[in-house]
Amino acid sequence: MPSPTPTPTLAALDTPLRELAGVGPERGAQLARLGLATVRDLLLHAPRRYEDRRHLLTIRELRLGESATTRGRIVAQGLKTFKARTKSIFEFVLEDGTGRLTCRWWNLPFMEKFFDVGDEVMVFGKLKSLKPRLIDHPETEVLESGPEESRDPTELLIHLDRIAPMYPLTEGLPQRWLRGLVWRTLARFGADITEPRPTLGAAMAGLPTRAEAVRWLHFPEELQHADQARARLALDEFIELQVAIQRRRKNLQALAKGLPCGGDNRWIKPFLKQLGFELTGAQTRVLRELRQDMGGAFPMRRLVQGDVGSGKTVVAACCALMALESGFNVALMAPTEILAEQHYQTFTRWFRDLGVAVELQTGSRKTATERPTTRPQPTLSVGTHALIEGGFELDRLGLVIIDEQHKFGVAQREKLVRKGRYPHLLVMTATPIPRTLGLTLYGDLDSSVIDELPAGRGRVRTFVRGAAQLPKVLEFIRQKIEEGRQAYVVYPRVEEGDAAAGIKAVKQEWARLQKTFAPHRVGLLHGRLRSEEKELVMADFRANRLQVLLATSVIEVGVDVANATVMLIESADQFGLAQLHQLRGRIGRGAHESFCILVADQKTEEAKARLKVMETTNDGFEIAEADMRLRGPGELLGQQQSGMPSLKFGDLTKDRGLIERARSLAAGLV
Ligand code: ADP
Ligand code: MG
Repeated sequence: MPSPTPTPTLAALDTPLRELAGVGPERGAQLARLGLATVRDLLLHAPRRYEDRRHLLTIRELRLGESATTRGRIVAQGLKTFKARTKSIFEFVLEDGTGRLTCRWWNLPFMEKFFDVGDEVMVFGKLKSLKPRLIDHPETEVLESGPEESRDPTELLIHLDRIAPMYPLTEGLPQRWLRGLVWRTLARFGADITEPRPTLGAAMAGLPTRAEAVRWLHFPEELQHADQARARLALDEFIELQVAIQRRRKNLQALAKGLPCGGDNRWIKPFLKQLGFELTGAQTRVLRELRQDMGGAFPMRRLVQGDVGSGKTVVAACCALMALESGFNVALMAPTEILAEQHYQTFTRWFRDLGVAVELQTGSRKTATERPTTRPQPTLSVGTHALIEGGFELDRLGLVIIDEQHKFGVAQREKLVRKGRYPHLLVMTATPIPRTLGLTLYGDLDSSVIDELPAGRGRVRTFVRGAAQLPKVLEFIRQKIEEGRQAYVVYPRVEEGDAAAGIKAVKQEWARLQKTFAPHRVGLLHGRLRSEEKELVMADFRANRLQVLLATSVIEVGVDVANATVMLIESADQFGLAQLHQLRGRIGRGAHESFCILVADQKTEEAKARLKVMETTNDGFEIAEADMRLRGPGELLGQQQSGMPSLKFGDLTKDRGLIERARSLAAGLV
């Protein structure tokens, strides 16, 4: 993705910092370590926090356990070493007329160099004790040293008696010096900061100008100015991002005509008839949207989101049939071999009587023996990454389907698309993407949501239990097996458990659970098995020759066995919520009531709260939002992260309002 930082027209901001007065080779190198090479970089170097130095606390006013800023003069200092000089404490004592404050540093003997008795110092930190008043490892800033006449006359203006910016630093670079540099640079280059998109002027109402925002970012007069500055700078980033996304899409539309893939119903009709169930209202609605796209003027680019079990596969099948009926071939890419194999079987069964060829392309299995570039009959190729690697070719590619998109990056998706000449693209995901992320991650796709589960599904009940209750849980599972059901038991690791931390590994538990559940049969499935072995195990489980399947998160996506109604997840705290939700989606697929039991000994309140979310809701979107709140967007982004723009000011998890605003502003620009 292109850099989201707007490029102003004036070259002044490109001035290298090393050309500025006062920036020698040493300072230049330090700035470079912070990633700051030009004036623009420096002006966008955001403070980590602000210190309100207009109302400092006196030493006496400091409160135990609270972080605050105070100032005083050093009246004594010293370095103590002990344990044969391997350990040390440096400390100084500050006085301000109201009291004394000791500041201490452990094992940083060189701190001694930076301070002298008589220095006026500001310190920021948390008061650790009252008698004596003590702060360990405070942040410090020496205000003045030496004789009165050599003092910096701008001291008050820049560093004191104001809201002072506190920047991320690097070793050897003093806060004060950097602040001074930013101040001088703003004074000299402030006028060069122009509006990146002048035509948006009016639309920016309520926010500072960009020039103002940059000034407020560093030297706000009120703390809320700093927030407004960030909002404005974030909006600028989002606008550029959205412009890039929307431009890409527009280019595609200018370049390519949609292949005529609307179909003529001759296969879809019999296909739907033999399914054995009616499509849900949501499936029907989404299909209608897909049909419009497939017969439209531009190549389709559509994301279908649907919670686990909402029936995306049938929808994909209908979409594939539209292309196949129209005489085009179709490629479907899934993230794992297990899933590709399962799709291959499902589609083979579904399409058998229609005269459509279904072939499988995975790293280890290819059902298309020879590879004629021209297949004699309409073909659906199902596969893994193997589809985008090497020799795979499919002529007349009309439609590309990507299942479980979050496991792939945008680059991989595009690679498959480029195997054809602007085929239609259908992307499916069960990972509910909070809207903020969706607008950015999938901003170039139209989106449809299957927001309804097929009727007649048994409900899924979820329980969180401590490790001590495991025997009871196993007994419960045995009972369900004896009623004819099957169960999954999921572990976070393959081989190496960690007994101390209570993390179990699937291989170690296998022997034990085979005894526990005898005479019922227990299978083992994990990512390190060869793919033929995986297939065999899955086939046995599907056919109920195995009653219990021990697995790692390889079964997370897509696996569909309706008779499996119990899922035990051990060391559940090792999984993210979105992942737990995916795992849980493997059960509750038939008419029987299903049970998901999460076993974990959670030490912290936060960990408890996290798993509690699973007990209280089955709604994937709610869970995704909670997960993002608790753990940040990492897991949701998955592979996508690599393709993500690096935002300095924008926050994909929080700035929903700004992202939506940027989206509509960008639409006006493109
Ligand atoms: P997902 O959206 O998680 O990929 P699947 O497509 O695997 O879900 O569907 C889950 C199960 O529900 C499958 O066994 C599928 O055949 C079944 N199914 C799909 N649509 C319906 C429907 N409208 N009514 C009943 N069962 C359905
Ligand atoms: Mg699926």
